[in-house]
Amino acid sequence: MAEVHGFQTEVAKLLRLLAQSLYSNPEVFLRELVSNASDAVDKLRFASITDPELTKNDPVLRIRVKADKAAKTLTISDNGIGMSLAEMNENLGTIAKSGTEAFMAKLSGDEKKDAQLIGQFGVGFYSAFIVADKVTVLSRRAGDDAASMWESEGAGTFESGPAEKATRGTDVILHLKDDALNFLDRWTLEDTITKYSDHIATPVELWVESTPAKKDDDKTDDVEDAVVGEWKQVNDAKALWTMSPREVKDDEYKAFYRHLTHAWNDPLAWAHNRVEGELEYTTLLYLPSEAPFDLYSREKQNGLKLFVERVFIMEDAAQFLPNYLRFVKGLIDTNALPLNVSRELLQASPVTTKLKKAVTKRALDMIAKLANDEEKKDAWRTFTAQFGRVLKEGVVEDPTNQTAILKLLRFSSTAADGAEPTVSLADYVKRSPEKQKAIYYLIAGTHEAAVTSPYLEVFKKKGVEVLLLSDRIDEWMISGLTEFEGRKFISATASDLELGELADAEEKAAEEAAKTASTGLVERIRTALSGKIEGVRVSNRLVESAACVVGENDQMMTPQLRRMLEAAGQ
Ligand code: ADP
Ligand code: MG
Repeated sequence: MAEVHGFQTEVAKLLRLLAQSLYSNPEVFLRELVSNASDAVDKLRFASITDPELTKNDPVLRIRVKADKAAKTLTISDNGIGMSLAEMNENLGTIAKSGTEAFMAKLSGDEKKDAQLIGQFGVGFYSAFIVADKVTVLSRRAGDDAASMWESEGAGTFESGPAEKATRGTDVILHLKDDALNFLDRWTLEDTITKYSDHIATPVELWVESTPAKKDDDKTDDVEDAVVGEWKQVNDAKALWTMSPREVKDDEYKAFYRHLTHAWNDPLAWAHNRVEGELEYTTLLYLPSEAPFDLYSREKQNGLKLFVERVFIMEDAAQFLPNYLRFVKGLIDTNALPLNVSRELLQASPVTTKLKKAVTKRALDMIAKLANDEEKKDAWRTFTAQFGRVLKEGVVEDPTNQTAILKLLRFSSTAADGAEPTVSLADYVKRSPEKQKAIYYLIAGTHEAAVTSPYLEVFKKKGVEVLLLSDRIDEWMISGLTEFEGRKFISATASDLELGELADAEEKAAEEAAKTASTGLVERIRTALSGKIEGVRVSNRLVESAACVVGENDQMMTPQLRRMLEAAGQ
């Protein structure tokens, strides 16, 4: 008996939204459903490693798309892992709340763009309702004898219960809306599947009807003969990363990226490497052009897709990338791990450690290449804006690669206009006189506060560049730093600023004279503020302001860090 269930509130909301606003780009439904079928086939392939029985009586894994003009239905079938009744209720009735909210928040009003977002938020299945007024799902889980059905008209409820299905896998049957009947057309289907699914490594077959030449004496009334046709494979079904990089065109890399990540835009860069020898592996890494909405969320799953000799093993294998490179997308395929590798095994394996080291280097190289590419200046700016902050985490997190990471960071500075971080440490070093043995920086709550800080006066006067740091992470990053190309990092707020070497003799004499002249004043201030300050000193650091408070030495906390600790009750 079928039972009626109410959709989770978020699903109901999402469905209304789909019907109302995403209708202008209906074809994404096919990408999402074929992609789900492909995931299901991958999952079965993986499960059958430990249980070969699962695929025994239907060993050729494939995805099929069939239009029925008379019934106005389009069916997407796979002979993959399938779903039990409980799984259908769960997977097709609920969604992660964080995902939906983020999805809704991200909607721009540009329908074309919005529709493309769908797959990134784990809500791809529901795109079926863009083109269908009723969706029926029949599924039989691999290894189960019983099958089940799920059906909904995309309003507040769905029905589900036991059903008949002769073979393993899932059929998603779309009862097409009247204005979506063009998806019954063979060429529309073929074009759309090719556009979105060319890089699915499982064959996608389309049912193509043929109209046999009618002979006069052909009097058969066998229904089977009425519709004749054959399954035609419409995608390449080859694993792109197994090809030689020389054979793969830029457009193919881009299309594969969109397939892999459900992105609607192009990546900023990619790196495809095959390494042979003792430890064999292939990596295909991508730099996205946009940070995901949950880049800083702890719950966010990151990592590469892991394949072992072309068999898909797991999504989001975080073990191959350090945390500060969590925005890197792509895959790793190796023969150095067993097919039955689990996340736990992965964690413990020395092979993982080696691969992580290699992948980290590849990723940093890919970013450096983009940084140094004169023709990709816009892409580089985008990268800095989207991921520059995350990369700063690496300074502390990954001391081994600190120098490589430092070269990739960009800062705002007194020598550059505006808040946009454009100055590299190499720029800074190149611009400053050789006798300047330090890289000066100023940490402030905002860029505005940094620019107008009185601490900068003396630097302005002497023409010394100061990096202006106002990212929340900056102070932590600086705490993990000692030097870059032999130059120490020194805070512009430190009390024992040794700008002396940069001062000329005349200035030094003037400073001495000022000190003597001000002895009385200094004494009076010392008495007035006694107990509140460590000391009073005459210095040449200010030009326009009369006085400022400084830290005792550069080990001391900056005002920002002090405030942060105070706020935290320390
Ligand atoms: P996502 O694919 O990002 O998880 P979807 O909304 O596309 O989100 O699908 C939801 C879930 O439904 C999938 O994670 C999967 O568990 C299940 N599912 C969808 N289609 C199939 C299918 N053809 N075979 C098996 N499970 C499926
Ligand atoms: Mg999906």
